[in-house]
Amino acid sequence: MEEYIAELNDAQRAPVLQKDGPMIVIAGAGSGKTRVLTYRIAYLMHQGIDAFNILSLTFTNKAAREMKKRIADIVGTSEAKNLWMGTFHSIFAKILRFEADKLGYPSNFTIYDTQDSQRLIASIIKEMGLDKDIYKYKQVYSRISSYKNSLITVKAYFQNAELVEADAMAKRPRMGEIYQNYVERCFKAGAMDFDDLLLKTNELLNRFPDVLAKYQNRFRYILVDEYQDTNHSQYLIVRALSDKFQNICVVGDDAQSIYAFRGANINNILNFQRDYDNVQQYRLEQNYRSTRNIVEAANSIIDKNKTKLEKVVWTANEPGPKIIVNRLLTDGDEGRYVASSIFENQMQYQLTNGQFAVLYRTNAQSRAIEDALRKRDIKYRIYGGLSFYQRKEIKDVLAYLRLIINPSDEEALKRVINYPARGIGATTVDKLIVAANHYERSIFEVIENLDRINLKINSGTKTRLENFITMIKSFQITNETSDAFVLSEMVAKKTGLLQELKKDGTPEGIARIENIEELLNGIRDFVEGQKELDEATGSLTEFLEDVALATDLDQDTGDDDRVALMTIHLAKGLEFPYVYIVGMEEDLFPSGMSMNTRSELEEERRLFYVALTRAEKQAYLTYTQSRYRWGKLVDAEPSRFIEEIDDKFLDFITPVDNYKYKPLIDSDIFGEVDKSKLRLKKPVSGSPPLAHKPTEDQLRKLRKLRPASSANETKNTISIDGNLVAGATVEHMRFGIGKILKIEGVGQDRKAEIHFEKGGIKKLLLRFAKLKVL
Ligand code: ATP
Ligand code: MG
Repeated sequence: MEEYIAELNDAQRAPVLQKDGPMIVIAGAGSGKTRVLTYRIAYLMHQGIDAFNILSLTFTNKAAREMKKRIADIVGTSEAKNLWMGTFHSIFAKILRFEADKLGYPSNFTIYDTQDSQRLIASIIKEMGLDKDIYKYKQVYSRISSYKNSLITVKAYFQNAELVEADAMAKRPRMGEIYQNYVERCFKAGAMDFDDLLLKTNELLNRFPDVLAKYQNRFRYILVDEYQDTNHSQYLIVRALSDKFQNICVVGDDAQSIYAFRGANINNILNFQRDYDNVQQYRLEQNYRSTRNIVEAANSIIDKNKTKLEKVVWTANEPGPKIIVNRLLTDGDEGRYVASSIFENQMQYQLTNGQFAVLYRTNAQSRAIEDALRKRDIKYRIYGGLSFYQRKEIKDVLAYLRLIINPSDEEALKRVINYPARGIGATTVDKLIVAANHYERSIFEVIENLDRINLKINSGTKTRLENFITMIKSFQITNETSDAFVLSEMVAKKTGLLQELKKDGTPEGIARIENIEELLNGIRDFVEGQKELDEATGSLTEFLEDVALATDLDQDTGDDDRVALMTIHLAKGLEFPYVYIVGMEEDLFPSGMSMNTRSELEEERRLFYVALTRAEKQAYLTYTQSRYRWGKLVDAEPSRFIEEIDDKFLDFITPVDNYKYKPLIDSDIFGEVDKSKLRLKKPVSGSPPLAHKPTEDQLRKLRKLRPASSANETKNTISIDGNLVAGATVEHMRFGIGKILKIEGVGQDRKAEIHFEKGGIKKLLLRFAKLKVL
């Protein structure tokens, strides 16, 4: 263990070695907060604390898995296996399953994802005959979500005159009724939405002192990562569970609080001292992740925020290259630049795809980047956006599986009762819903009892409904005797889902079939994995829970090598050697919707701080002069955030001015770079000079533009046809000295196989390798 403790600096070691009591670590990005949590858990176990008694809450399940792996390295796999680690949602979903009956839920309750919830709300709005332009279902959903996260139940809502008044003022007087219907329908369907997982946990801990005591005694040591982004509901859970032993360790960075829009409450950090006695506060100041340029540039950004805790972040790392800033004409050019820059870096430094990330403010920006990467055959993975489990065909299969487990699951039933088409129309389904509401039964039960109730449904439809129920029941029987894989395969075939897609025959249809196959593979892996673990049963319920709570990051198995594309929100806590932050434009970043108040703008700035501090070696900022947005080409201006960074950290490879205001001239872009021009130009008052469109020739050159630095370096570089022959001794910027073993290929593709004294044998493309013959 001592050798592991030696991997920490003094400041990090202190919170690791303090065994008991409440503690908070507030520190900037990359200073080792997550490392402290990891080592702290290992050290607790080393001191004899049972894994069973430790609860660790992380931002993604992937982060939890990685921490667990590291802990297993230190204390051994069998010890680490029993640790409770994961997101709030996944941990408390498990606890709720144990305790479901106390709250009147079945233990196999379904978890509704955002889409299920929104569909249900849309259908309630329709059933209530409300105007869907006033009651926009997405807005209604997010209102309800924020009530739940503030622990405002339906009852509390109606008692809160202010809220009722506010919704009435917003011309939505029936908000409370929708909320009430939604809650009732979820309950009846045996379903909890994401927010319920926290709300119901709070309810459980508040209403049942014995349950609270049980988990308080169990979780003697509690650790929370990214504490700055906990919402009120999460905060209350942590406080309740840690109340008895007060062995609570939270780590976070107020400068990285980026989820206020989803209810995260920065006061949770600020009030921590008040909530517990004798809080030990620790600060970490040394950043291990990034170059000095990146750390200092990031410091200079966050410095512009007024609301913040004063912190020091420094690094002993090399200064490293400056942050590259590049202006492109359009988003298409931006994509091409990013792809070619990744390609060049890979060639020059022998890097894998996994060492690159492209970060953006909004999901829609990924398309142009994807197109360019595909053209260059660079593999990438998109996180966020439509994740695998959100795809229609996957949701269809999952809906069948959900219905088998929980026949009350209304959203699942509505999804598949007539898919593939089996002649059960929307009118019939509407009648069933009305009857179900009337009799306070599930739709499934209504169909089971069609003979006993008087519904105007013709006999043909009735038979079809009965056949549907019989099919689902036969799957239920299979489920009792077979594992989840066998059952799922049967579902894909017998329901007609696969045939339906085969009929389609289009490339999209084929891709959908492949996705279903992929899902089945995943289920098989899951079943086998569970059997090996020997702790769980590999049951369908467990699989569905895993799926419902899988975040996009969780699908990253890390076993294939891809460039990561994601929104900045998702990138929190992660790190990559090379990071491209694209779309650095006013109205996009900062977002046009979040710059009205200082606090919104400050959240955007924190988001930029998060983005930049993901980079270890090199960061790129790109912006365009015009971009397609909402289907239209609109003019763009460089983000104020670029201007806020001190120029000394930046390397402009195109002058940062806006051609709207200052005509482009050749020498500006291609000649010697005149640093005095490399400042953001503010629009001059009065009428700006006419926009000067670049000529075709300039456009061509712009697209091929290389970093300015390479222009100077070519002077020391031997041209491709020079003395580069087998046997020559050469020097490479990064790999050092080596001997050429052979040269192959022609022109642009000429490669050298070189045996480097330190790095072993490498193949390099000469066009990028910048070799010096010695
Ligand atoms: P963020 O705020 O982005 O979540 P963090 O504070 O959690 O960052 P970590 O991810 O724990 O920081 O650490 C950043 C990087 O620095 C990691 O690669 C980690 O392994 C490394 N690191 C942290 N502490 C040390 C140390 N004492 N010696 C060497 N490397 C370290
Ligand atoms: Mg971290």
